[in-house]
Amino acid sequence: MNKIKIMESSVRKWERIINENKSDGGVLDCPPCRIFYFTFCFGCPIAAYTGQKFCKGSPYGRWYWHQLNEHDKIRKKIYCPECLKIATEMRDFMIEIVESMKAQKAER
Ligand SMILES: [Zn+2]
Repeated sequence: MNKIKIMESSVRKWERIINENKSDGGVLDCPPCRIFYFTFCFGCPIAAYTGQKFCKGSPYGRWYWHQLNEHDKIRKKIYCPECLKIATEMRDFMIEIVESMKAQKAER
């Protein structure tokens, strides 16, 4: 399993949320979650990067609570400038993880 490829598909997921107004399905359509989550969060590159499970330490918590508190809709997607800002941070955070994984791989 190529973890870099998984994280790259996560970058693409957030690109689609930002550019194509797609919705975020959370665990169900998060590429690393689909592989590493199961019933508990284990071995995910995001958790390895932040040192915390369940996407804590990433912008995802802010995205989640902003969606719930401000919009409270079934679909989590971009509704306002704050949504766009957090989604962009999330995309950039995924890119940061991909870059760091590539750098680590190059060191080996
Ligand atoms: Zn919003």
